[in-house]
Amino acid sequence: TANLTGKTALVTAAGQGIGRASALAYKRAGASVIATDINAETLGTLAAEGISTRLLDVLDAKAVTEVAAQIGPVDILFNCAGVVHGGSVLELNDDDLDFAWDLNVRSMVRTIRAVLPGMLARGGGAIVNMSSVASSVKGVPNRFAYSVTKAAVIGLTKSVAADYVGQGIRCNAICPGTVESPSLQERMRAGGDYEAARAAFIARQPMGRIGTPEEIADLAVYLSGATYTTGQAYIIDGGWTG
Ligand code: NAD
Repeated sequence: TANLTGKTALVTAAGQGIGRASALAYKRAGASVIATDINAETLGTLAAEGISTRLLDVLDAKAVTEVAAQIGPVDILFNCAGVVHGGSVLELNDDDLDFAWDLNVRSMVRTIRAVLPGMLARGGGAIVNMSSVASSVKGVPNRFAYSVTKAAVIGLTKSVAADYVGQGIRCNAICPGTVESPSLQERMRAGGDYEAARAAFIARQPMGRIGTPEEIADLAVYLSGATYTTGQAYIIDGGWTG
């Protein structure tokens, strides 16, 4: 794993799931971590692990700017916040698409705008953005709004990488398959038959299991220290698209 000693890492949606595992993994890698989320309770349990925490709603542009100003320059930004909506294009609720766009894409524009000037002033930085295989990587049934927005994350990532590659900034995306998390648990319960839903999620992963948040966190840490990679979308999906 990368040695991030002396680096400062800002993580969004760090209260639970992949964001939480990543905050802990960054800390293990030696980074000084600022874990943010809208959930004070889950942040509190991270604070108990010795991680610096801040309430931050990434839908709130002003709050993003304020938090970035308060914490000062960071070396690493992990944009983990995101939401999953079900449904095909004909089932789409326009409000869901707007919300997914705001949380999955615009949030990253906000945080990048807030921290990139500080990274540029210091001559470098690493940005990791959470996408998904359900994006431009693979057509996944029943994930229209999600896939549209997660595909945009890959475009956003490549654009930032291309614009700032000469100034020490690296920007990569992570594209997981299905990963164990509280929101996945909710999705599996939502249809009424938890066991059938879980079996269906497992069936599409050739490794025969759902990924762990720690496995994705390891990739986030790796990419944060991977000094010769930028503009890439890294697939980590238990063999789903292999
Ligand atoms: P999760 O969905 O269980 O948790 C999401 C976290 O985001 C919560 O702590 C919540 O409080 C926080 N959050 C919600 N709205 C927020 C806001 N406006 N501002 C700040 N924080 C907010 O976690 P997860 O399933 O690990 O998902 C994390 C990311 O990984 C998402 O972007 C998701 O799309 C992506 N992802 C997840 C999977 C999976 O199978 N779990 C697969 C691919 C990609």
